[in-house]
Amino acid sequence: METVLPLPPPVLIPVQGLTAGFPVRRIYCVGRNYADHAREMGGDPHREPPFFFGKPWDAAVPGGGMIAYPPATADLHHEVELVVALAQGGRDIPVAAALERVFGYAVGLDLTRRDLQARAKEKGQPWEMAKGFDQSAPLSALAPVAAIGHPASGAIWLSVNGAERQRGDLDQMTWSVAEIIAHLSCLVALAPGDLIFTGTPAGVGALHKGDRVRCGIEGVGELEIRVS
Ligand code: MN
Repeated sequence: METVLPLPPPVLIPVQGLTAGFPVRRIYCVGRNYADHAREMGGDPHREPPFFFGKPWDAAVPGGGMIAYPPATADLHHEVELVVALAQGGRDIPVAAALERVFGYAVGLDLTRRDLQARAKEKGQPWEMAKGFDQSAPLSALAPVAAIGHPASGAIWLSVNGAERQRGDLDQMTWSVAEIIAHLSCLVALAPGDLIFTGTPAGVGALHKGDRVRCGIEGVGELEIRVS
Protein backbone atom coordinates (compact mmCIF):
# COMPACT_ATOMS: atom_id res chain seq x y z
CA MET A 1 0.00 0.00 0.00
CA GLU A 2 1.10 3.55 -0.64
CA THR A 3 1.56 5.58 2.53
CA VAL A 4 -0.15 8.93 3.16
CA LEU A 5 3.03 10.13 4.86
CA PRO A 6 6.66 9.19 4.31
CA LEU A 7 7.67 6.15 6.39
CA PRO A 8 9.90 7.07 9.35
CA PRO A 9 13.56 6.33 8.70
CA PRO A 10 14.87 3.22 10.52
CA VAL A 11 17.26 3.61 13.44
CA LEU A 12 20.38 1.60 12.65
CA ILE A 13 23.01 0.76 15.25
CA PRO A 14 26.54 0.26 13.86
CA VAL A 15 28.03 -3.20 14.42
CA GLN A 16 31.73 -3.62 15.22
CA GLY A 17 33.54 -5.20 12.28
CA LEU A 18 30.57 -5.04 9.86
CA THR A 19 29.32 -2.44 7.41
CA ALA A 20 25.64 -3.43 7.88
CA GLY A 21 23.67 -1.85 10.73
CA PHE A 22 21.32 -3.38 13.32
CA PRO A 23 17.72 -2.12 12.88
CA VAL A 24 16.01 -1.18 16.16
CA ARG A 25 12.47 -2.47 16.76
CA ARG A 26 11.58 -1.85 20.42
CA ILE A 27 13.53 -0.63 23.44
CA TYR A 28 12.86 -2.30 26.79
CA CYS A 29 14.53 -1.41 30.08
CA VAL A 30 14.87 -3.26 33.39
CA GLY A 31 14.44 -1.31 36.63
CA ARG A 32 16.73 -1.80 39.65
CA ASN A 33 18.90 -4.69 38.56
CA TYR A 34 21.94 -3.98 40.76
CA ALA A 35 21.47 -4.30 44.53
CA ASP A 36 23.45 -1.15 45.37
CA HIS A 37 21.40 0.98 42.95
CA ALA A 38 18.13 -0.52 44.25
CA ARG A 39 19.23 0.55 47.76
CA GLU A 40 20.17 4.08 46.66
CA MET A 41 16.68 4.43 45.13
CA GLY A 42 15.05 3.30 48.38
CA GLY A 43 14.17 -0.25 47.32
CA ASP A 44 14.77 -3.69 48.70
CA PRO A 45 17.11 -5.53 46.31
CA HIS A 46 16.17 -8.98 47.58
CA ARG A 47 12.43 -9.10 47.29
CA GLU A 48 11.55 -7.37 44.02
CA PRO A 49 11.11 -9.42 40.84
CA PRO A 50 12.35 -7.71 37.64
CA PHE A 51 10.10 -4.97 36.31
CA PHE A 52 10.18 -3.38 32.89
CA PHE A 53 9.46 -0.12 31.15
CA GLY A 54 10.02 1.06 27.61
CA LYS A 55 11.38 3.85 25.49
CA PRO A 56 10.30 4.66 21.92
CA TRP A 57 12.52 2.96 19.35
CA ASP A 58 13.57 6.33 17.92
CA ALA A 59 14.89 7.48 21.32
CA ALA A 60 18.02 5.48 20.43
CA VAL A 61 21.05 7.62 19.55
CA PRO A 62 23.51 5.32 17.75
CA GLY A 63 27.09 6.09 18.74
CA GLY A 64 26.20 8.86 21.21
CA GLY A 65 27.62 12.30 20.43
CA MET A 66 25.72 15.52 21.05
CA ILE A 67 22.59 15.16 23.21
CA ALA A 68 20.35 18.18 23.75
CA TYR A 69 19.50 18.84 27.42
CA PRO A 70 15.83 17.77 27.42
CA PRO A 71 12.93 20.09 28.24
CA ALA A 72 10.73 19.99 31.35
CA THR A 73 13.43 18.85 33.78
CA ALA A 74 15.99 20.31 36.15
CA ASP A 75 17.41 16.90 37.10
CA LEU A 76 18.64 14.88 34.11
CA HIS A 77 20.36 11.71 35.37
CA HIS A 78 22.87 9.29 33.82
CA GLU A 79 22.49 5.50 34.15
CA VAL A 80 25.14 3.41 32.37
CA GLU A 81 23.82 0.00 31.33
CA LEU A 82 24.66 -3.15 29.40
CA VAL A 83 22.38 -3.29 26.35
CA VAL A 84 21.30 -6.61 24.84
CA ALA A 85 20.38 -6.69 21.12
CA LEU A 86 18.19 -9.57 19.97
CA ALA A 87 18.64 -11.43 16.70
CA GLN A 88 15.60 -13.64 17.38
CA GLY A 89 12.53 -13.28 19.52
CA GLY A 90 9.78 -15.48 20.84
CA ARG A 91 7.34 -15.95 23.72
CA ASP A 92 7.88 -17.86 26.96
CA ILE A 93 11.56 -18.36 26.20
CA PRO A 94 13.24 -20.74 28.70
CA VAL A 95 16.27 -19.35 30.54
CA ALA A 96 18.44 -22.11 29.05
CA ALA A 97 17.48 -21.09 25.48
CA ALA A 98 17.58 -17.30 25.97
CA LEU A 99 21.19 -16.44 25.15
CA GLU A 100 21.03 -18.06 21.71
CA ARG A 101 18.59 -15.25 20.73
CA VAL A 102 21.20 -12.55 21.38
CA PHE A 103 22.90 -10.83 18.45
CA GLY A 104 25.28 -8.72 20.50
CA TYR A 105 25.88 -6.22 23.28
CA ALA A 106 26.42 -2.48 23.61
CA VAL A 107 27.10 0.18 26.23
CA GLY A 108 24.02 2.34 26.71
CA LEU A 109 22.77 5.27 28.75
CA ASP A 110 19.26 5.17 30.21
CA LEU A 111 18.91 8.96 30.47
CA THR A 112 16.25 9.84 33.03
CA ARG A 113 14.35 12.99 34.01
CA ARG A 114 14.63 12.09 37.73
CA ASP A 115 12.38 14.91 38.91
CA LEU A 116 9.56 13.76 36.62
CA GLN A 117 10.12 10.16 37.73
CA ALA A 118 9.93 11.14 41.41
CA ARG A 119 6.67 13.01 40.78
CA ALA A 120 5.26 10.04 38.83
CA LYS A 121 6.18 7.59 41.62
CA GLU A 122 4.60 9.86 44.22
CA LYS A 123 1.33 10.12 42.29
CA GLY A 124 1.29 6.54 40.99
CA GLN A 125 1.53 7.82 37.42
CA PRO A 126 3.38 6.23 34.48
CA TRP A 127 7.15 6.73 34.06
CA GLU A 128 6.84 7.29 30.31
CA MET A 129 7.74 10.99 30.26
CA ALA A 130 10.55 10.48 32.78
CA LYS A 131 12.20 7.76 30.72
CA GLY A 132 11.01 7.80 27.12
CA PHE A 133 11.87 11.28 25.90
CA ASP A 134 13.76 12.23 22.72
CA GLN A 135 17.41 11.10 22.65
CA SER A 136 16.99 9.26 25.96
CA ALA A 137 18.79 6.10 24.83
CA PRO A 138 22.30 6.75 23.45
CA LEU A 139 24.24 3.54 22.82
CA SER A 140 27.59 2.43 21.44
CA ALA A 141 28.19 0.26 18.39
CA LEU A 142 27.14 -3.35 18.97
CA ALA A 143 29.76 -5.96 19.74
CA PRO A 144 28.47 -9.19 18.17
CA VAL A 145 28.32 -12.40 20.20
CA ALA A 146 30.44 -13.96 17.47
CA ALA A 147 33.28 -11.63 18.54
CA ILE A 148 32.88 -11.27 22.32
CA GLY A 149 30.64 -14.11 23.51
CA HIS A 150 28.25 -13.37 26.40
CA PRO A 151 29.79 -11.07 29.03
CA ALA A 152 28.74 -12.24 32.53
CA SER A 153 31.34 -10.24 34.43
CA GLY A 154 33.51 -7.20 33.80
CA ALA A 155 33.69 -3.58 34.93
CA ILE A 156 30.87 -1.18 34.06
CA TRP A 157 31.74 2.47 34.70
CA LEU A 158 30.85 6.08 33.90
CA SER A 159 32.66 9.38 34.30
CA VAL A 160 31.51 12.99 33.93
CA ASN A 161 34.13 15.54 32.88
CA GLY A 162 36.85 13.06 33.86
CA ALA A 163 35.50 12.33 37.37
CA GLU A 164 34.25 8.81 37.98
CA ARG A 165 30.60 8.61 39.07
CA GLN A 166 29.53 5.01 38.55
CA ARG A 167 31.46 1.75 38.83
CA GLY A 168 30.17 -1.75 39.19
CA ASP A 169 30.57 -5.18 37.70
CA LEU A 170 28.23 -7.13 35.46
CA ASP A 171 28.42 -9.98 37.97
CA GLN A 172 26.43 -7.78 40.41
CA MET A 173 23.29 -7.94 38.27
CA THR A 174 20.35 -9.29 40.28
CA TRP A 175 18.81 -10.89 37.16
CA SER A 176 21.13 -12.27 34.46
CA VAL A 177 20.68 -11.46 30.78
CA ALA A 178 19.16 -14.91 30.19
CA GLU A 179 16.72 -14.47 33.09
CA ILE A 180 15.74 -11.01 31.87
CA ILE A 181 14.98 -12.29 28.36
CA ALA A 182 12.99 -15.21 29.82
CA HIS A 183 10.94 -12.95 32.15
CA LEU A 184 10.26 -10.32 29.50
CA SER A 185 9.19 -12.92 26.92
CA CYS A 186 6.43 -14.02 29.31
CA LEU A 187 4.99 -10.48 29.15
CA VAL A 188 5.40 -9.63 25.45
CA ALA A 189 6.47 -11.39 22.26
CA LEU A 190 10.09 -10.45 21.66
CA ALA A 191 11.33 -9.98 18.11
CA PRO A 192 14.52 -9.44 16.11
CA GLY A 193 15.71 -5.85 16.53
CA ASP A 194 14.61 -5.51 20.16
CA LEU A 195 17.03 -3.84 22.58
CA ILE A 196 17.00 -4.45 26.33
CA PHE A 197 18.72 -2.05 28.74
CA THR A 198 19.63 -4.22 31.73
CA GLY A 199 19.85 -1.78 34.65
CA THR A 200 22.50 0.41 36.22
CA PRO A 201 24.94 0.12 39.14
CA ALA A 202 25.00 2.71 41.97
CA GLY A 203 26.24 6.25 41.52
CA VAL A 204 23.55 7.77 39.32
CA GLY A 205 23.59 11.57 39.34
CA ALA A 206 22.76 14.79 37.59
CA LEU A 207 24.09 16.05 34.25
CA HIS A 208 24.39 19.66 33.17
CA LYS A 209 24.79 21.48 29.88
CA GLY A 210 28.36 21.19 28.63
CA ASP A 211 29.08 17.92 30.49
CA ARG A 212 31.15 15.30 28.73
CA VAL A 213 30.11 11.78 29.72
CA ARG A 214 32.27 8.74 29.06
CA CYS A 215 31.19 5.25 29.95
CA GLY A 216 32.16 1.73 29.14
CA ILE A 217 31.91 -1.96 29.82
CA GLU A 218 34.98 -4.18 29.90
CA GLY A 219 35.00 -6.41 26.83
CA VAL A 220 32.01 -4.66 25.21
CA GLY A 221 32.96 -1.10 24.30
CA GLU A 222 32.79 2.56 25.21
CA LEU A 223 30.34 5.41 24.63
CA GLU A 224 30.75 9.17 24.86
CA ILE A 225 28.11 11.88 24.89
CA ARG A 226 28.21 15.65 25.26
CA VAL A 227 25.21 17.43 26.77
CA SER A 228 24.47 20.56 24.73
MN1 MN B 1 17.92 2.28 34.07
